Amino acid sequence: MKEKSIEKPKQAEETKREYSELITATQIKVVMDFPEYAEKAAATGADGVGLLRAEHMILGTKIHPAYLVRQGRKQELIDMLVKGISTVARAFDGKPVWYRTLDAPTDEFKSLEGGENEPQEENPMLGWRGIRRSLDQPGFLRAEFEAIKRVHEMGMKNVGVMIPLVTRVEEVRKAKEILDDVFEDEYVEFGIMVETPAAVWVIDDICKLGIDFVSFGTNDLTQYTLAIDRNNDLVQKHYDELHPAILAEISRVIKICKRYHVQTSICGQAGSKPKMAAFLVRQGIDSISANPDAVNQIRETVAITEKNLLLDAERRNLRPQ
Ligand code: PEP
Ligand code: MG
Repeated sequence: MKEKSIEKPKQAEETKREYSELITATQIKVVMDFPEYAEKAAATGADGVGLLRAEHMILGTKIHPAYLVRQGRKQELIDMLVKGISTVARAFDGKPVWYRTLDAPTDEFKSLEGGENEPQEENPMLGWRGIRRSLDQPGFLRAEFEAIKRVHEMGMKNVGVMIPLVTRVEEVRKAKEILDDVFEDEYVEFGIMVETPAAVWVIDDICKLGIDFVSFGTNDLTQYTLAIDRNNDLVQKHYDELHPAILAEISRVIKICKRYHVQTSICGQAGSKPKMAAFLVRQGIDSISANPDAVNQIRETVAITEKNLLLDAERRNLRPQ
């Protein structure tokens, strides 16, 4: 009997190449914590960095950033940020890199040198973090913006700014004022994270203020919408980023942002999940950020969903009236 020819299983490398050759209308980006991995993340062929977290760069110094500023050592801080941000900006040359300003809860600052005076909070997740803290201690926020400006001056203008945990239009206005003051007339892409129900409800006014993009921080959006502390193991079984309330929030924000030509994106963990990616593409999101090891799978899901959307539209057009 003639032997049935069995197709050799594809090597991982081959599959990876094929996936990264898929062209999708929705951009597929990566989420990054450590600049050391920038080259590796860029090798996925991602269309940019949808979230560059500051926490690992800053807390990695083991010195409290506000303490450094108080000691008159702001320049050290800026140099360290310039090094990290420019490493990523260089690896993603010509593609957007969104630097997210510092968002660490007080408990994570306590162990740092100079962190002894950090307040003891009952629930740090509902406490002094994100943009509300940055505006209370604007010296550090300014240092972050100055670092980005330096990176621009080094020729890497692909770095934008994203502010976390927004709940009020006023926070966005104040952050923008400081950014404009640092950048003067030079353009820098500016956006916010949508990770509180409050941001979902005031998005219209935030768009009117003039922002370039929003990005869904579904890790926090889930926490705050479902009243589930993301650090509490007892309630993790109820933590569901695909809960209809969250999908409705996302859908609302995308619809409103489109009216204002504000780009929409996701940078929470849910962006690495095919089910969420398919939902987002159907809502018309502009970009999805995934973990570097999930980029290929998400790219494939996005390509299939986009194709199905086209087929659906064709079928509708062919249907007799
Ligand atoms: C999020 O909340 O989804 C997010 C990306 O921010 P972080 O996980 O750093 O809070
Ligand atoms: Mg968050």
